[in-house]
Amino acid sequence: MANVKYIFVTGGVTSSLGKGIISSSLAKLLQARGYSVTIQKLDPYINVDPGTLNPYEHGECFVTEDGAETDLDLGHYERFLNVNCSQANNVTTGRIYQNVISKERKGEYLGHTVQVIPHITDEIKRCVKLLGETGDYEIIITEIGGTVGDIESLPYIEAVRQIEWEMGSDCAVIHLTLIPYLSATGELKTKPTQHSVKALRETGVQPDVLVCRTEKPLTSELRRKLALFCNVKKEAVIESIDVETIYDVPLMMQKEHLDKVVLDKLKLPARQEPELNHWNEFLSKLKNPTSEIRIGLVGKYIELKDAYKSISEALIHAGVSNEANVKISWIHSEKLNADTYQDSLKMLHGILVAPGFGDRGIDGKLYAVKYARENNIPFFGICLGMQCAMIEFAKSKLNLEEAHSTEFIETTRVPIIDLMEEQKKVTSKGGTMRLGAYDCELKKDSLAHKAYGASTISERHRHRYEVNNKYLNEFEKAGLTATGINPESKLVEIIEIKDHPWFVAVQFHPEYKSTVEKPHPLFVHFVKAAIDNRQPIKSKNSVVAV
Ligand code: GLN
Repeated sequence: MANVKYIFVTGGVTSSLGKGIISSSLAKLLQARGYSVTIQKLDPYINVDPGTLNPYEHGECFVTEDGAETDLDLGHYERFLNVNCSQANNVTTGRIYQNVISKERKGEYLGHTVQVIPHITDEIKRCVKLLGETGDYEIIITEIGGTVGDIESLPYIEAVRQIEWEMGSDCAVIHLTLIPYLSATGELKTKPTQHSVKALRETGVQPDVLVCRTEKPLTSELRRKLALFCNVKKEAVIESIDVETIYDVPLMMQKEHLDKVVLDKLKLPARQEPELNHWNEFLSKLKNPTSEIRIGLVGKYIELKDAYKSISEALIHAGVSNEANVKISWIHSEKLNADTYQDSLKMLHGILVAPGFGDRGIDGKLYAVKYARENNIPFFGICLGMQCAMIEFAKSKLNLEEAHSTEFIETTRVPIIDLMEEQKKVTSKGGTMRLGAYDCELKKDSLAHKAYGASTISERHRHRYEVNNKYLNEFEKAGLTATGINPESKLVEIIEIKDHPWFVAVQFHPEYKSTVEKPHPLFVHFVKAAIDNRQPIKSKNSVVAV
């Protein structure tokens, strides 16, 4: 078998240039040419994984099939490639050090001083090569978090230098950089990029390709200048101009021949022109919707939209399936109270109550559930959103005033949501929730069964609390049914309210499995219900047609 090829993506000048999207787009093009590709993210922070981070810090925590809590970029990788990632696709400095220190304690380095070079860099190299050794991929793209020049990125860059030294033409380095536009002089400036490449070269790494994020087109002269000063071929200066949607980026990279330039460097054949029929069809529907709906996304982290990245992307995918433009109204759960909730929610065609941890904003979420339930607005609850749906129903329909989750009121006398049995002895926080894929059996004639078109499904989880089955009978009698159950543990995974057009809530996270190729069936049916249930929206003075 031919050697596995490694592509490294580094970032320069500033963060947030979109390394994840560039990596995903390149991977998409290579996949569309017939290569098997995966993408890995190396994160230079000391947390062992992002599971213990507040979403305000790094956005959403993405969960893989095997239950790894990972960086949100892995969500982009899966959405673009429609290929699952695993724990091996996301490694942090914390994990690298944890591995090295545990080897040291076992005596694996007996007699030696354990140091950043070679021990930490060797561990980084081992983690990079792990995916190559599975035999599943011809090309591994490794995105290095942070910005070149950061102290904490240094061991990673050194590992890249060593891998390149060992592998030569089996390796390519792409540097993503910013070309700022100075409106005062009307010019694009190359100096920050020159400095960033200089910093990279000082560590012994010469980029092969520059991907230049820019607001204005790069002229031929500017490309020549960048090539000359940064020591790359002119055709390897790739323009990445701002576009309407992230789903445009693969096509933009194709126009710039990023895939060809990289294949040339890796001495790989082009195989075929990228087959992107489905992708193009998706984009064309995305840009030409035939209707528009407004979905309220109720959460407490909405100041940072990245905290709900997979949900907002899943809504885009579902919109495309329904040929509808899904507009998201971001609703802060802390702002919903008895006085405000009706006014804040009345312009919506569908309400989604988001996942979350801790009691901040819970009352607002209960008001959102109540509004959707009483006004027949299609409702989709995810994880904490499902738990809130049950609490609200218990309080309003079962006369269980004190019903709550023990996460919020530990001593409640009506614990309809309670800590899972196996969680009661858990004391440490990292990686200890119910995580990853579990099976779920669906009741015939349920909305879920209709959406999935299957009797057994598998979905990803991330929670510690569960529905207390002791109260299930009471719920069922009042019209709230458990329509999805885990076959082994009997945990409730899906609930529905019968006398409502579309009220579905799930304990798992369907958003993690929605991709461009396979939009998630529950999101698709939720959006469809919102379209079907569109009623004239009541505004203060008149009735607004939709
Ligand atoms: N905090 C809740 C639990 O741990 C819900 C978690 C979530 O929404 N992901 O069960």
